Amino acid sequence: MKKIAILGSTGSIGRSTLDVISQNTDYFRVVALAAGRNLDLLEQQIRMYRPEVVSVANKETADVLNKRVSSVEILSGLEGINCIASHDDVDFVVSAIVGSAGLIPTLTAIKSGKKIGLANKEALVMAGEIMVSELNHNKTQIIPIDSEHSAIFQCIEGHNKKDIEKLVLTASGGPFAHKNKEELDHITAEDALQHPNWKMGKKITIDSATLMNKGFEVIEACWLFDMPPEKIDVLIHPQSIVHSMVEFRDRSFLAQMSIPDMRGPISYALQYPDRISNPIHRLELDKIDSLTFSKPDREKFPCLSYAYHAIQTGGTAPCILNASNEVAVQAFLENRIGFHDISVIIRRAIDDHQVKYPRDLEDVLEADRWGKEKAEKIVQEIQRC
Ligand code: MG
Repeated sequence: MKKIAILGSTGSIGRSTLDVISQNTDYFRVVALAAGRNLDLLEQQIRMYRPEVVSVANKETADVLNKRVSSVEILSGLEGINCIASHDDVDFVVSAIVGSAGLIPTLTAIKSGKKIGLANKEALVMAGEIMVSELNHNKTQIIPIDSEHSAIFQCIEGHNKKDIEKLVLTASGGPFAHKNKEELDHITAEDALQHPNWKMGKKITIDSATLMNKGFEVIEACWLFDMPPEKIDVLIHPQSIVHSMVEFRDRSFLAQMSIPDMRGPISYALQYPDRISNPIHRLELDKIDSLTFSKPDREKFPCLSYAYHAIQTGGTAPCILNASNEVAVQAFLENRIGFHDISVIIRRAIDDHQVKYPRDLEDVLEADRWGKEKAEKIVQEIQRC
């Protein structure tokens, strides 16, 4: 029986993970859950899955939860999440906290030698080099939960790295693939939150609409599969059936297909290398008219190019990309800036940043702080205009 901890249990990936576990109680036991402030849902999860320990945002939230449930240890804050990530009774950690907040707990889990199911791509974008070196040092492994990387992971299984010509990440193109530049200027947060194929959290839905999500995924793929950015392509595939592909040197492509549902990659990560049943619908290929692929419009969606540029530059550049994006997306969700401003803010933050080569986590966190402060200043300037 595999003992599971979920960092971010009340979010979209956390809920889907629990759904998969519910169908496979012979294989998995939930030992620890970390959530933020959604106490109603966490309380339900505690009653249903009976973890030994949970962690919430802060002391005040922990006090409220303490009055509502007994028979579970309740921790709080970063210290609490780190305890969950490194808990002695846990074999496998699902890292599903959104954004830069996921970095330290994910690193803590790696340093404790836990196997990780990684949904938080921002950790690898910010500190890829440090994470890879800690994975090697602690002799443990990340199994990707991001659907594209899960697809690639499945396609390269059993193959030699030297035979891989290209990794091809597919992208749905988001809700605005067919809008022109002018129309993009008038998009609201509400419009952007309507993703055509995937049901996801707010930040990643906006990141998908700007294609920054795909940019992050290029960087994530570089670190996960030890590939240079030149060997990673992106294709728009609006049907979201082919989750990604690998091209080999004999010109063969291998692709992984299913209907778009995160419970697919989650169940693969949880029980890798075995496959288990999950609650997702069967892909009925005879009901699909066509599968189409096209190149992304980088002029309309410049964030993708910024991501390639950042990983080619290396050092703190990807960290600034992530930090400025996080601030810009939050400002857009609060209706403080327009859709187009997101990429403007990222571009300006990157242009103003002097790239450094981080020696340790503190250097990464310092760059993250700089990037967030810089982006916030630019947001305020835009608001004044
Ligand atoms: Mg993805």
